[in-house]
Amino acid sequence: MMLRTFSPGSLWRYVFAGSALGAVAPLTTLYLLASPGDPWSGFHQFTSDPLLFATAALPAATGYLAYQIGWRTLQLRQRIHELEHRRRELQEVASRDPLTGIGNRLAMEQALQARMAKVNKTSTAVLAIDLDRFKFVNDTMGHDTGDSLLIALTQRLKQVLGGRGEIYRLGGDEFVILLDGCATPQAVEPYCLDLAREASTPFELAQGRVATGLSIGVTFVEEEDDSIGQVLKRADLALYRAKADFGSAHTFYEPLMAAEDLRMFEIERDLGRALSEGEFFLEYQPIIGIKSGKVRSLEALLRWRHPSLGVISPEVFVPLAERSGMILAIGKWVVQKACSEAVKWPAPVGVGVNVSGDQFKDRGFVAYILGCLDDSGLAPGRLTIEVTEAVFSVDIQLVRESLAQLRAAGVRVALDDFGTGFSSINNLKVFPLDQLKIDRSFAREMLETTRDARLVDLIRLLSETFQIDTTIEGIETRPQLDFVRALGIEEAQGFLISRPVAADMVPDLLTPDRNLFAVAS
Ligand code: C2E
Ligand code: MG
Ligand code: MG
Repeated sequence: MMLRTFSPGSLWRYVFAGSALGAVAPLTTLYLLASPGDPWSGFHQFTSDPLLFATAALPAATGYLAYQIGWRTLQLRQRIHELEHRRRELQEVASRDPLTGIGNRLAMEQALQARMAKVNKTSTAVLAIDLDRFKFVNDTMGHDTGDSLLIALTQRLKQVLGGRGEIYRLGGDEFVILLDGCATPQAVEPYCLDLAREASTPFELAQGRVATGLSIGVTFVEEEDDSIGQVLKRADLALYRAKADFGSAHTFYEPLMAAEDLRMFEIERDLGRALSEGEFFLEYQPIIGIKSGKVRSLEALLRWRHPSLGVISPEVFVPLAERSGMILAIGKWVVQKACSEAVKWPAPVGVGVNVSGDQFKDRGFVAYILGCLDDSGLAPGRLTIEVTEAVFSVDIQLVRESLAQLRAAGVRVALDDFGTGFSSINNLKVFPLDQLKIDRSFAREMLETTRDARLVDLIRLLSETFQIDTTIEGIETRPQLDFVRALGIEEAQGFLISRPVAADMVPDLLTPDRNLFAVAS
């Protein structure tokens, strides 16, 4: 049984033949010895006749030898088999993600390599996936929740794929899916929609309810691809774009993205000297009281006049400045500049300054802001610090303390872009706030869909409950302004009222007889 199991080839035949020969030789001898006549003569004949001796002894020796060789070979093969099994086990462990049980980066690279070696390699789609707000979940609800979320998410995504594709976790909240038999965007699209829908359906975990979502960058293995690095780079570029585009969970790679990536690299490099070269400047966009039509405050919006690329939007360079840490120095410059400008405006018109979460990591930042107020002579109540919900993913305790210190000194705090991020009621409860700014995407949609109109009303009700001022951003048309006025929202900002303007244009907006509401109508 053993022989058949471990030696399906010719091995068992060796052993069998060896044993048979070994058995036949002594039988021959016995036969000769027991042949009729004098047994001694038989024995004598056997020992004295070399031919007869050889006839018996040689097969026996050969049989024994064959048996030994067979047996040792068998043992060796068994050992090799065990080692191979162990090697496979080790490889399995090395290529598995211990948390979710799916393949890891190594497994993904091997699988992608295998697909690229195929003749028909262009039928594989590669999806780079990144979870939205994962860091936020980890920071606010703990790593246990983060882990449970990843496990539950993996299960859902696997179900969407069925047998069509394989999912791999590269680490953190980064995943890659290899979809077979998908060579066109039309073939991949339904999967992307299903994956996004599954991820954005809230998870009921043991630790509580978690809402998230995902971004997907898609590319295809191309005929001319000769390294997996090329393919993954394309998927990453598409993912980068998907993350930047609010509202679309997935993006297909386009060649232009590679050129843009190069441009990003140049921009990041040039950011280093932009501050010392005086290339930054601020524009100011008014926020009006809807009833009075008068400017209550102006939001300072950062711009960069790049020597060769022209004026670059903060949406492009602020994330790069955050990544490189340069936002600390740039952000200080913004506060200082905005305070020294706003003090020239008639009181009580205030100024709003956008602040990134990373800036709070600088322990001296709050003291710096208060120093700017002192130096400029601007009353603290005329300065509003605008933060988005992303700020809470930095270090919740640190941010809470910093905001509390600012408010204790009389500075106002606004929560910007509300409704796009986590939109947590808990944040409104826990963090000290003076103003809630409803994201401009609502202004765009509220006259189109009753859902968005209701949401705007709901957010207004929320601010009222927490006794926070409500401002709506992105008002571009008169019907939008009329609509929010009817809802009872106090303040509005948007292109209808005024686009962001240069500092020297601000006094014109602030002349006592100027009614921006009237100008807009
Ligand atoms: P934000 O704080 O939400 O600023 C409002 C953005 O909406 C501005 O874009 C403004 O030009 C734009 N906007 C205003 N009204 C309308 C409208 O009616 N329609 C449309 N479509 N857009 C409107 P901007 O200046 O490109 O700034 C983009 C974002 O960059 C800001 O969003 C803010 O998050 C960030 N940012 C700007 N300045 C700074 C800064 O000094 N520091 C930091 N950390 N971030 C900044
Ligand atoms: Mg803002
Ligand atoms: Mg905003």
